[in-house]
Amino acid sequence: MENNKIKDKGYTPENEIKIPPIYRIPPPVIQSINWLYNFFFPWWILYFAMAYLGYLFIQINPQIMLNFDFKLIALIWLKNFFFLFLFAGGIHWWLYIRKKQTLDYKYYAKWPTENNSKFLFKNQVKDNMFWSIVSGCTIWTIFEAYVLCKQATGGVTVYFWSEQPIYLFLCMILMPFIGGVHFYIIHRFLHIPIIYKIAHQLHHRNINTGPWSGISMHPIEHILYFSMIALWAFIPADPFIVVLTGIWFGIGPAQSHAGFNKLVLFKTKTLELADHFHHLHHKHFELNYGNIYAPIDPIFKTFHNGKTFPRKK
Ligand SMILES: [Zn+2]
Ligand SMILES: [Zn+2]
Repeated sequence: MENNKIKDKGYTPENEIKIPPIYRIPPPVIQSINWLYNFFFPWWILYFAMAYLGYLFIQINPQIMLNFDFKLIALIWLKNFFFLFLFAGGIHWWLYIRKKQTLDYKYYAKWPTENNSKFLFKNQVKDNMFWSIVSGCTIWTIFEAYVLCKQATGGVTVYFWSEQPIYLFLCMILMPFIGGVHFYIIHRFLHIPIIYKIAHQLHHRNINTGPWSGISMHPIEHILYFSMIALWAFIPADPFIVVLTGIWFGIGPAQSHAGFNKLVLFKTKTLELADHFHHLHHKHFELNYGNIYAPIDPIFKTFHNGKTFPRKK
């Protein structure tokens, strides 16, 4: 079987990465609907559910939102930590501790590094957890708390879903795509050699990535990366969209960096898991800076489809 063949070398998806049909002019209707369906189901729905639960949690005492202080930050940090630990920790537990699908569909046929001095505590997973929880979760929280407080105190317009359902729906749906442009810009900046050395090398320690590698970044990278949440400090939205943006950027990378292209469900059924496009960035560095939802890489000739050998720098 295919999986037995690749067990020693790691898994390479058969299909080349294609620019989503929604970007073709004119977009092919059926293919575009199909692509959007696969984009939103099932992962987006899971993120949506997490964001909704998080939103209900922070609504328990609306008074807390009125002051940008330790109490507000602690409350939101706990919420964010809970979902990060549950999601990244859950995938890690299933695939890397229980090893439920052994190395099937894993890009690299090896487990995370232990006893390697390039990682904190000489351990890749502990290093990744440290940067994700201590720096990542905290900086994500500060941006989110700041915007929620600004919304609560009238610093930026807040719309209710009953007033502006179409506008809010568009904000919610377009956020990952706008976020893709933002990510491309900050990521190109992070690859300027001097900046890379200071602020981005830490994330690239992880070639053989796992769920905890997702937001294992230097604090400078966290500030740039989570600054996307600050968009809602200037553009009218509602608190749920702020929380959802945090979940998309804070939790989503645990999925995209999971290291396994697919998750095996019920023996034969599989579900797309990690992001092959971004895996190629961790493998080859100087390409695929953005993501496939907002394909800017093809414009700047930094796109690698997983089949054609990447250009040399
Ligand atoms: Zn990455
Ligand atoms: Zn990079």
